[in-house]
Amino acid sequence: MTEHACIFCQILTGKIPSKKILEEPDGMAIHDVNPQAPFHALVLSRTHVNDMAALMDRIGGEAEAGRLMQMAVRVAARAGLSENGYRLVINTGENGGQTVGHLHIHVLGGRQMLWPPG
Ligand code: 5GP
Ligand code: ZN
Repeated sequence: MTEHACIFCQILTGKIPSKKILEEPDGMAIHDVNPQAPFHALVLSRTHVNDMAALMDRIGGEAEAGRLMQMAVRVAARAGLSENGYRLVINTGENGGQTVGHLHIHVLGGRQMLWPPG
């Protein structure tokens, strides 16, 4: 997918509105438009990259991934989820259930999560 057509790139540039939680150089955290839990945020990578494998192919990708994970943990903590717990999810590819081809971390909390996932 080209960056121009990418829904999350358009959110990052403000062309598509979103409910912002946090903005940092490496990414932006927003509320998911279709929440699957009482709290459901997405941490979007600032630059267009399809998935974690593609990020790992980039120089410095592992450090960038670490900073995105830091953001996800910070978002969960600020939402008051640290004590009772939460779930971080990165759906990858078709079998992984990825529907938007721009790397993002789901932060889900506020209810008991189930295992195995659907
Ligand atoms: P995936 O299925 O790729 O792991 O996750 C994509 C997520 O993006 C879904 O949870 C979906 O609800 C969310 N989403 C899709 N379009 C939009 C949008 O325009 N705004 C926001 N805030 N979330 C979106
Ligand atoms: Zn994108």
